[in-house]
Amino acid sequence: MIFLKTEDEIELMRAANQLVAQTLAEVGKHIRPGVTTKELDKVADEFIRDNGAVPTFKGFPNPCGGTPFPASICTSVNEVVVHGVPNDTPLVDGDIVSVDCGTLLNGFNGDSCYTFRVGEVSEEVARLLNVTKQALYEGIAAAQQGKRIGDIGYAVQTLCESNGYGVVREFVGHGIGRKMHEDPQVPNYGSRGNGSMIKSGLCIAIEPMITMGSPKIYMTDDKWTIRTRDGKPAAHFEHTIAVHKGKVEILSSFDEIEKNI
Ligand code: MG
Ligand code: MG
Repeated sequence: MIFLKTEDEIELMRAANQLVAQTLAEVGKHIRPGVTTKELDKVADEFIRDNGAVPTFKGFPNPCGGTPFPASICTSVNEVVVHGVPNDTPLVDGDIVSVDCGTLLNGFNGDSCYTFRVGEVSEEVARLLNVTKQALYEGIAAAQQGKRIGDIGYAVQTLCESNGYGVVREFVGHGIGRKMHEDPQVPNYGSRGNGSMIKSGLCIAIEPMITMGSPKIYMTDDKWTIRTRDGKPAAHFEHTIAVHKGKVEILSSFDEIEKNI
C-alpha cells in the first residue's frame, strides 16, 4: 500500500532528509587516506544524535536472519555494493566509499547515499561515479506525476547499460515516510509505462547501485555486506524525492557534500 504524503508530512520529510544531507557532508569532511570507516561511523552517529534525530540504520533488523546492523551508516568500499559494515581498515588513496545514511526525525525518515573518492581515483572509477550520479538524476527527472515507476528504472538502466555498466537487480529503491522502506519498490531497471502510477504526494528513494563489470553480487558471511562477484567496483547514489505541486522536489541534497570536495 502506497502512503501518499500531505504537504505537512513532506515538510517533515524535508527536515529529516536535510539532516541526512548535512550528516553526509560532515562525514565527507573526514574522508581521506588513513581514516577508518568506524571513525566515519562515529562522526555520523554523533552528528545525527546532536541534531535530535535517531540513526535509523543502527539496530536495523537483518532480513536474512543475521544480527541487527551494528552501525549508523553503511560504508561500502570499492567492490562492496551496499550494506558495508564500518570496520577498522584504513581507507587508502584511490578507494571509493559509498556512505549510506538514514535518520528518523519527528516521526519521518530521511535516506540518502553518496559515493566518495578517497584521494585520487583512476579515470575509469571516476567515470563510474559520474555516470551513476547522472543516472540518479535522470531517474529523478523521469519521476513525474502521471508517469509510472517503470519510467524511472528505464531511465537509470538505459544510461548505465549504454555505458557498459551493470545494474544490480536484487536491491531497489523504495517508498519512504514513517517507515524507511514503504511501497512501492523502485527498481533501477524497467520498461516505460509499467508499474505503479506516480501520484502527487509520492515520496520515494531512488538509488542506482551500478557495477563497473557484471551486475552479479553475493552476500558475505556477516549477512550484510554485498559484494560484486567479479571483484570490480560498484557505485551507489541515492536521493529521497517528493512528487507534489506538479513538480519533483529532491528532499535530500549533495550541495553541502560537494562544497567540501
Ligand atoms: Mg539509503
Ligand atoms: Mg534507500
